[in-house]
Amino acid sequence: MLDELEIECPYCGATFTALIEPDDADSVYIQDCEICCHPIRFSVRGDGGGGLHIEVARDDDS
Ligand SMILES: [Zn+2]
Repeated sequence: MLDELEIECPYCGATFTALIEPDDADSVYIQDCEICCHPIRFSVRGDGGGGLHIEVARDDDS
C-alpha cells in the first residue's frame, strides 16, 4: 500500500507528492525534482507505528 507524502524541494521550493511504500522505511534514495530537475535526497523513516516520515535534503555529495 503506497503512502502519499507532500514534500518540498530544497532547491526551488516547489511542493509535490512523493509515493513511498512501507518497505522503504529507513532507506535513502535520490529522485530528481519534477520542477527544477535537481537531485533530491529522500530519507524515509518509519515511526514504529506503521506511519512513515520523509525528509528531503540537497544531494551535496555529488
Ligand atoms: Zn525543485
